[in-house]
Amino acid sequence: MNNLGTLKFGPAGYPAEAKGNLERVFQILSEADLDALEYAAVYGLRMSEEKAISIGKAAKKTNITMSMHAPYYISLASKREDVRERSRERLIKALKFAPLMGVKRIVFHAGGYSGRSPIEAYRLILDSLQEVWNTAGHHGNGAFLAPEIAGKLKAFGSVEEIIRICEDVEGCIPTIDWAHMYARRQGEIEGKEDYAKILGIFEDRLGEKFTKNMHFHASGIIYTKAGEKAHRPLDGKWGPDLLPLAEIIREGGYKPTFISETPDSLRGALYIKYLFEELEKAKQ
Ligand SMILES: [Zn+2]
Repeated sequence: MNNLGTLKFGPAGYPAEAKGNLERVFQILSEADLDALEYAAVYGLRMSEEKAISIGKAAKKTNITMSMHAPYYISLASKREDVRERSRERLIKALKFAPLMGVKRIVFHAGGYSGRSPIEAYRLILDSLQEVWNTAGHHGNGAFLAPEIAGKLKAFGSVEEIIRICEDVEGCIPTIDWAHMYARRQGEIEGKEDYAKILGIFEDRLGEKFTKNMHFHASGIIYTKAGEKAHRPLDGKWGPDLLPLAEIIREGGYKPTFISETPDSLRGALYIKYLFEELEKAKQ
C-alpha cells in the first residue's frame, strides 16, 4: 500500500506496456506502486469465466482494487425495447462476472435521451436499473453499479440525474468523472471552492453511500458547447486542474479511488498520485 492511507490510484484499461499480458499488467502496476485497475470491457465483456477468475486472482495477489467499465453500448432509454433489453443483459452479465474478477464497482453510461424528455428517460432508466438490481444485484457479491457523470450534455448523466438514480436504486453509487464534469460546466471548475461545492452536493444527498465508495475518473479534456470532445493528458495545458481537488480531499479526509482515463492511463495515474505525494511532503 502507498503512504497515502487508503487513497487508491490506477489506470483505466491495461497499461500499453503490458502488451495485453495479464501477468505483466499486474506486475507493472505493482512496480509502479499503484493500487487500482479499471478493467475495460467497453467493447463487450467477451471472456471466459476461467479468464475472469485468473484476473481476479492476479489482482488479489498484487493487492490491486478492481473496478470495471461496462460496455459503451448500453442505452437504457432507447426507443427500441430489444436494445433496452440487451442493455440490461450487459449489466447483469457484468454483475455476474464481478465477483470472479474481484470487481467492486461497475462503471457505466446509461445512454442518451433517445429523443425523450429527460424525465421520461429518467423513468425508463430507473425501471431498468431497478430490474437489473432486483434480478442480479445479489450475484455481484458486494459490487455496485456506478453510473458516470456524462461528458456530453445530450447524454443522461447530469449531477442531478446521477444523484437521483443513486438515491432511487439501492445498488447504485456515483462515478464522478472530473473531466466530464469540467466539459459539462464549460471549464467552470477553477479552484477549491468549486470542487468543495460539488463534493458537498453529493455528500449531502447521498451521505456515506458516497463518502465510503468514492470512485473518480480523471483526465484532461477538450470540449465544445455540446460537452466532451476528447480526453487529454493531465500534466499538460488541458483542464481541469486537479491540485485544488487533491487539497480538498486531503483536508476533508476523503478516500477516493482515482482512475486515470488519460491517453497514457498509467502515466496519468502516476501523475494524480504524485500530486497527493507532493501535498503530503509540503505538510511535513
Ligand atoms: Zn470516465
